[in-house]
This record gives sequence, C-alpha cells and structure tokens, in this order.
Amino acid sequence: MKKAILIICDGLGDRPIEALGNRTPLQAAETPNLDKLAQRGISGAMNTVDIGVRPGSDTAHLALFGYDPHVYYNGRGPFETAGIGMEMKKGDICFRANVGTVDKDLVVIDRRAGRIESTQEIVEALNGTKIDGVEFILKKGVGHRLGFIMRGQGLSPNIIDSDPHKENVKIHTPHAKDDSKEAMFTAAVLEKFLDKAHKVMSKLPLNLEREKKGLPLANYILVRGAGITPNLLSFKEKYNLDAVCIAGGGLYKGIGRMVGMDTPNVEGATGKPDSDLTKKVEMILKQYDKYNFFFVHFKGADSLGEDGDYEGKKEYIEKIDKAIAPLLDLKDALIVITADHSTPCALKAHSADDVPVVMSGYGIRDDDVEHFNERECARGRLGHIRGAHLMPLILDMMGLAELFGA
Ligand code: ZN
Repeated sequence: MKKAILIICDGLGDRPIEALGNRTPLQAAETPNLDKLAQRGISGAMNTVDIGVRPGSDTAHLALFGYDPHVYYNGRGPFETAGIGMEMKKGDICFRANVGTVDKDLVVIDRRAGRIESTQEIVEALNGTKIDGVEFILKKGVGHRLGFIMRGQGLSPNIIDSDPHKENVKIHTPHAKDDSKEAMFTAAVLEKFLDKAHKVMSKLPLNLEREKKGLPLANYILVRGAGITPNLLSFKEKYNLDAVCIAGGGLYKGIGRMVGMDTPNVEGATGKPDSDLTKKVEMILKQYDKYNFFFVHFKGADSLGEDGDYEGKKEYIEKIDKAIAPLLDLKDALIVITADHSTPCALKAHSADDVPVVMSGYGIRDDDVEHFNERECARGRLGHIRGAHLMPLILDMMGLAELFGA
C-alpha cells in the first residue's frame, strides 16, 4: 500500500435513538460505499484518548496522529491561533480571545461586543505592542474572535483567564496559577497590556461610531485558554510521510499545520454541515501524486449531533457515503475511516463512547464485518483499540513500520 487516506468524521459515533428504530444515525443511514470498505477491510472499535475519557476534538486528533495529548496538550490557545493561520514560535503563549464590552467598572456587559465583525481596526492599533520585552501579536479571527500571542523570554501559560466566561461580572485581573517567577511575570505583563488595550480601544474611531449608533462598545480583550506552543515533530520527521490536511474548520487546519502537513484551501469547504464534501475528495485525487498521507476532515456530523438533529446527522452521513465513492477505485491506497469521538444527539455533547474504525484496501486481511457502524465494527478483528494504535497500524499496512528486534 503506497498511500494512506485517513478520513475523520468528527463526532460520528452516537447512541440508539428511538425515532430511528433504536438505531444510531450511522446504523440508520444508507451507506453502500462505507459498507463496501467494511467488507474489504478490518474493523474495530476505538477510544481515541482512552476508555472513559470524553475527548475534545483537539486532544482526540493529537492522539490519532500519535502525539500523546497528556504530553502535548496544555490549553486550547495554540490550536486556535494555529487554526487562523498565525505564525507561531516555540515558547509562544497563545490564547483564545474575544473582543468584548465592559462598563467603567470593568464589569462585562457583552462578551462578544454585540457579535462585532469589524475588529481589524483594533488589531491594527494593538498588534506588535511591546511591554517589558514581551511582544503582543494579534490577528482577526471569525466575528468577535481574535488570535492572541505573547512572545518573549521567561513566559508561562499557567495564568488564569481574564474572561470570566459570563456577563455582569467583573473581568478577572490576570494572575498566576502557580507561584513561579514566569507565571507571575506573564500575568503582570498581560495585565499591563489589557489595561493599555482598553484605553486605546475606547478612543478608536470605531467605538465613537458604535457609541453614536447605540451599539455595544468594543472596548476590552477577554483572553482565555492560555497554552504554550507545543514542540511537535512533523509527520515527515516522525513517520517520513508527505502529508496533506484537507479540512475546512480552522482548528483542524491548525492541527495539520502544527504537525507539518500542507493545508491547501478547499473551495466550498466551510467546516459546517453545508460543506462541499465532493470537493474534498476531488482535492485528494488532484493531489494524489504529490503526497502519500491524506488527512481528510468532515465536520458536519459533530455539529448536527450537538444540535440533537439525528435526521440531519443521518442525511449528512449519507452525503459522506456518496462523496467517498471515487476512493473505492484506488488500488494502491489504504483507506481508514473513523471519528475523533462520539457526539450523541441525545446528549448534544461529546461522549466517551467508542467510535467505529475501518481500515480497508486491496490485499489486506478482511473480517466478517459487512456494515460500517458502531455495533458491527465492534465485532471486527481489529478489536478494541486506542487512538495511539492507529498510526502504527497504518504504517504497518503501508509497509513502513520499523522492525522491533532483529
Ligand atoms: Zn470532534
């Protein structure tokens, strides 16, 4: 097998739903192509992080790619900043940030400043600010969101969020989570910056305009999820694979970038249920000669699961099934289909339920599984694996695994 195509259907796993005849959306969906892959391959059940752990999408993807999230994950910030395409350096402290509204006593009135869209003026006014040798790097994200990086010597991610995560509460003054010199320095510099930003933002023409229109002022930056940029080996260094990430959602592109995958823009890929899945499959075929590892991310099943929309989830799975049809003809590719976690419609949230996995291709051993779903895959010959097993299995099937012993 010369190539591997790993398709991660975000939040695919589910629990039985009465209205679907006590079946999951995946069981209820018509999926002839996914079933064909199951018939040709070996299937199993997988807990991406560990049994009983409810994974986030970020920790689950790290685990699936072979980077232990207990070692490399220390907060969402770096994944957010990578996801909007910010250049990050080793040691950078990265945050998720909102432009919000505070009153004169720094009580949060609106965590999203009326869902403001035009934050470019704020970014231009503050990006590159230096305080005590620390540089603050800002980039506009979607809507009220910003990417926010602190770069300098002697910084620590162990500081609490300034964002109180609710309204009508005073902002949290940044302070250290531990008594290290680094954490206290980071909190002190961050506090100075947020004060300064508040003053600068209050006077921007944008806010004079908003005041006239009676809109909530965009006068404070609420930061949360501090994390230090993890130092990850690239896929090339770790596995000697030339890898490409075909995704629409910022987080997934960000994770792809962190592990050195190319991240081309896919036209029509929105990271939402309306995403054009056929365009992603076309991208695999278009780039087929250039890479030997393709990570493809389909987000919709997770969003629909979080909405509790089991009919929509079932239809989206059928859309996946149609989109992947051209891949079934590839004779030299291992096709792996799985999920990062379950998002049961009944919970409208991620759960620790295992997810189905199939590894399929010409010449690999098969088993008796006929249909790709939670129940049948669990009977397959792969058994019950962890996310950490997936890359070693892929490498072995590609003939690239290193011999253990002599
Ligand atoms: Zn996910």
